[in-house]
Amino acid sequence: MDINLLTSLNDNIRIDRSKCTACGKCVDVCILDNLRLQLSPCRQACPVGMNCQGYIHHLAQNRMDKGLEKVKEAVPFGGILGRVCSRPCEAACNRLKVDGQSVAIRDLKRFLCDQDGTPPVPEGTTELPGSVAIVGAGPAGLTAAFYLRAAGLKVTLFDRESEPGGLMRWGIPEFRLPLEILERELHFATAAGVEFRGNSTLGGDLDLQELQHRFDAVLVAVGASEHLKLGIPGEDSPHILPALEFLKRAREKKAAPPGDRVVVIGGGNAAVDAAQTALRLGAGNVTVVCLEKREEMPAFSWSIAEAEDEGISIHNAWGPQAFKFTRERLTTVIFRKCTALYDAAGRFSPLYDESQSMHLPCATVIVAIGQKTQSALLDPSWFGPGAIRIDPITLRVAESKVFVAGDFVRGPRTLVEAMAQGKEASLSIQRMIQGEDLYYERGNGKPLEFQFEPDWSQALKRSRAVMPTLAVAKRKGFEEVAGGFSRDEAVAEAERCLNCGVPFGLRTCWFCLPCEIECPEEALYVEVPYLLR
Ligand SMILES: Cc1cc2nc3c(=O)[nH]c(=O)nc-3n(C[C@H](O)[C@H](O)[C@H](O)COP(=O)(O)OP(=O)(O)OC[C@H]3O[C@@H](n4cnc5c(N)ncnc54)[C@H](O)[C@@H]3O)c2cc1C
Ligand code: SF4
Ligand code: SF4
Repeated sequence: MDINLLTSLNDNIRIDRSKCTACGKCVDVCILDNLRLQLSPCRQACPVGMNCQGYIHHLAQNRMDKGLEKVKEAVPFGGILGRVCSRPCEAACNRLKVDGQSVAIRDLKRFLCDQDGTPPVPEGTTELPGSVAIVGAGPAGLTAAFYLRAAGLKVTLFDRESEPGGLMRWGIPEFRLPLEILERELHFATAAGVEFRGNSTLGGDLDLQELQHRFDAVLVAVGASEHLKLGIPGEDSPHILPALEFLKRAREKKAAPPGDRVVVIGGGNAAVDAAQTALRLGAGNVTVVCLEKREEMPAFSWSIAEAEDEGISIHNAWGPQAFKFTRERLTTVIFRKCTALYDAAGRFSPLYDESQSMHLPCATVIVAIGQKTQSALLDPSWFGPGAIRIDPITLRVAESKVFVAGDFVRGPRTLVEAMAQGKEASLSIQRMIQGEDLYYERGNGKPLEFQFEPDWSQALKRSRAVMPTLAVAKRKGFEEVAGGFSRDEAVAEAERCLNCGVPFGLRTCWFCLPCEIECPEEALYVEVPYLLR
């Protein structure tokens, strides 16, 4: 028999799929660059690169601690993301192709983190010379603070508010993200020696030039919190409130009752959150009105459904035209029909049918039509057309000591994107301070496969587990709506995962074996000719 040893040896890597979590360790340690990792779609879609497959796999096998470790490997704020992440992973999940329902990836993360209950701690801190100023204690700034402190650098975190958290504390309502969870996960800052200086405002008592002199690096992560205005006469009335101010007052427990009838203008998450908050503050009738058609609304579909369950009505494709007042009291808001949102060139430019109008009586209007960044905070020469000129890999601004992250960079996005940028910026800052190459192993081709078919035959016939929620009649206050899975529900849901990603051998293997030795799950076995092993 004619045996070609070289070709026969490129198929000698055996993976026990019941053990493998697609962690990629074997791929990283392969000396001959033989192994490739098929990266599961959920992990590809996650901005922080969380190994969702891995934690779900551990959970399906009842190994809670190992599952939790996988979450913490990617980001310290799993309890927060487990509740309010925008869940791009679920939109990419292969399970959708099986029964139209993704694995409940976010809810499973919440389950794991709720089993734990201990605050995240930056590990192995060996003090290094070097100090960093972070301005903005939202998810971007806090994530950067965590990793910079973990690297041993001195971190001072400034924020114009008295407490850290950004929109996680002052925007997202407590019935979605309880204060207890937020405070538990932000506890690392005090525990690990991050110096928090509240009531410090960049552009006020803080000056960027001065920060650059005092610190080795500066991260600007001040979000996008300047609310957009409608430009309609009467908008400055005390009965017409910007959504972020309204939500912040509610979280501070200082919001005045909004009156019986409330109209919220806008179709994003701030609008839906404000509407549900108004209901909890005693409004009898809450209506959301937006320019977008239903399918175009930027708010999360699950939040819209929840709001409708609570009795909030939504009117799509209407634009505000005028406010009516009687002796300075707001009485009505008038809308006209919106027939198109964009012009032929795709620019936002709403068109109206003036013959169709809608009059909604109300005591309060909440305006939630979007936010923009405080562009005046940076040197004007640092801006290109409409955006800050940054290196997209390092997030550094114009070869300076200044880095940026989060919504401040490109306008309103999501928590997990802000955290991902905070992480990337922290890596750049560590490297800059230590005189290392900022680009090393970033943005260049890794040994990964993105297009592949999972093993469809493994799909159990089982519908997605539904998270129990607080009965609508009981949603009077700010108690959390989503109840969390029981252990049995979580394990059963985790078993729906197809365990899509897996490593494989691409070229000839020379039996050096670090892959087999380093595999934390003992899932990989190299078939070595008898006389060699
Ligand atoms: C109502 C609402 C609900 C949302 N819900 C979700 C959700 O469920 N899931 C999701 O993924 N995303 C959600 N988002 C989006 C998400 O909150 C943001 O994308 C995210 O918070 C951005 O993080 P960041 O760190 O860039 O900015 P921020 O969270 O805005 O934090 C910026 C920080 O900078 C501080 N700051 C601002 N200006 C200055 C200054 N001049 N000097 C000093 N400090 C300053 C602020 O006080 C704040 O603490 C929501 C947004 C809103 C408005
Ligand atoms: S075989 Fe082992 S090291 Fe390789 S991806 Fe699977 S679990 Fe990780
Ligand atoms: S089936 Fe599992 S591994 Fe595959 S994309 Fe969905 S959650 Fe990820």
